[in-house]
Amino acid sequence: MTDQDPPNPSHLDPQDWGEARRAAHALLDACLDRMTQAADHAWTPMTPDDRAALALSDLGRGDAALAEDLARHVLPHGLGNTHPRFFGWVMGAGHLAGLMAEMTAATINANCGGWDHAQIEIEAQLMNWCRDIFGFGPEAGGLLVTGTSQATLYAVAAARLRALGDEIRAKGQGGAPLRGYAGASSHGCLAQAFELLGLGRDALRLVPETETETDTGPDLTVLAQMIAQDRADGALPFFLGGTAGRVQTGGFDDLSAMADFARQESLWFHVDGAFGAWTRLADAPWRDLSAGIERADSLACDFHKWISVPYAAGLLLLQDEALLRRCFAGRESYLAPASQGLAAAGNWPADLGFDLSRGPMALKIWAALKAYGPERLGAAISENCRLAALMGQEVAARAPMALARPVRSNICVFTADARLAPAAQSQLNQQISEALQLSGQAVFSTVALDGQIWLRAAVTNHRTKAEDVRAALQAVAHAAQTAKI
Ligand SMILES: *Cc1c(COP(=O)(O)O)cnc(C)c1O
Repeated sequence: MTDQDPPNPSHLDPQDWGEARRAAHALLDACLDRMTQAADHAWTPMTPDDRAALALSDLGRGDAALAEDLARHVLPHGLGNTHPRFFGWVMGAGHLAGLMAEMTAATINANCGGWDHAQIEIEAQLMNWCRDIFGFGPEAGGLLVTGTSQATLYAVAAARLRALGDEIRAKGQGGAPLRGYAGASSHGCLAQAFELLGLGRDALRLVPETETETDTGPDLTVLAQMIAQDRADGALPFFLGGTAGRVQTGGFDDLSAMADFARQESLWFHVDGAFGAWTRLADAPWRDLSAGIERADSLACDFHKWISVPYAAGLLLLQDEALLRRCFAGRESYLAPASQGLAAAGNWPADLGFDLSRGPMALKIWAALKAYGPERLGAAISENCRLAALMGQEVAARAPMALARPVRSNICVFTADARLAPAAQSQLNQQISEALQLSGQAVFSTVALDGQIWLRAAVTNHRTKAEDVRAALQAVAHAAQTAKI
C-alpha cells in the first residue's frame, strides 16, 4: 500500500474521518447551544418549506451533509417540551446527562436484550435501586420498558398468569371470565392492555369515583358490590388498578386503602404511577401522596416524564419478579446461556419481556442518577409542585379565572372565565390553548372534566420558574380578553 492508494473504508464509515469529526463536533455544539438556550425555543409550527427540507430525496450525501441537515432542519423543530413555559400533557424536558448517555450508547451500540456488558449490569443495578426507592420487597424486580403503556400490558399479563397458571402460555386463556377493576378516570392504556391480551376491554370494569377531600377516587363500597355481583355471576375478579397521579387532575388514589381492599378480595394490585410515582423523591407533603405504593403487586411508571430522561424509558416493577420470567422466558437454542463468555450473563432482560433486541434505556437513567442524584431530581419535582400550587393561587387571585380543583400535585386545571356558561367556557379555553401554542407564548393542553373543557397545566419541567407561571397566566388573561366568543 502507498499513500496514493485509494482509501478503502467500510460501506458505511466515513470516507474522510477528519471531515466527519469536524461535522459531528459542530453538531454537538449545535445540540449544546439548543439545550443552553432552551428558554428561547418554544414550539413553532413547521412551514411548508420546513417540511419540504425533510423530504427523503437527495439521499446518500454522507455524514457531513447529514450533520448539517440535522442541525438546520431537525433541531429547530422539536415538540417544545424543553421550553420552560411548556405545560402541555405530561412531558419531560431532557437534560445534559441524557444527551451524553445517548451519545455513548450510540457509540457502543449494544443490544440490551442480554449478553455480558456494562448496560446489562447497569439495568440490574437500576432494578435494585428502584426496588429500594419504591419500598418493594427482596424478591422484587422487573424490566425497563418503553413506557407505562408497555409496563401496564406486562403487569396485566403477569396478573393473569398468577390467576390462571402457567398453562395459559400453551393453551391460552380460553373462556376464563376474568374481571379487572379500576377507577373511571384510569389511563386508557389499562383498557388497551385488556384488549391486547384478549380479555377484551369489557373485562375491565370502571368503578365510579367519588369526591374525596381534594379529588376523586374509586368508590370502594361500590367496588365491593360490583365484585360480589361478578362472583355471583360466575366471573373471576383478579385485578385492581390504582392511579398515583391522574393525568386529568394530578389526583392520587388512596393506595393504602386500595392495597387493603385488594388483599381482602385476593386481587392483584397494580399502580399506574406514570409520573406521580416519583413524588417518592419529593419533599412532604407531596411525597405522602404516593404512600402505600410499596404495597402494589406491580408498578408502572416513566423515567421520560418527571425524571426528564430522553424518550423513551419506563419501568415495570413487580413484587415477584419470577412471575415475569414465567410469563416470558423461553429462549431459543441459539440464545442458550453459556458457562463463560458473552452469553454467560445470567440475567437477560429479554427473559422478562417480549422484546429480544432492546435499546439502551438503562444508560440514560443511570446517567441522570449519576449526574444529579435522587436529591436534585427530587428537588426539581418538589419545585414543580410548588409552582403548580403558585399557579393555583394566581388563578384564584385573577378572577374571572377559576380553578376546577384544588391543586394537589403538579397539575393545575382552570378556566379562563368562570362567568360564562359551560359551553362558552369550553370554546374559550380551547381557543386560548390553541392560540397560545401557535404564538409560542406558552403551551397549555385541555381536559374535559365535569362536562366542560378546561385549560390544564402539568408542571414537569425542571427549567420552569415562578416568572414563567406568571407570564403564562398573563398570556391567558390577555388571550381571553381578545378572544371572540
Ligand atoms: C403518560 C401516562 C401513561 C402512559 O405512559 P406512556 O409512557 O406514555 O406509555 C399512563 N398513565 C398515566 C397516568 C400517564 O400520565
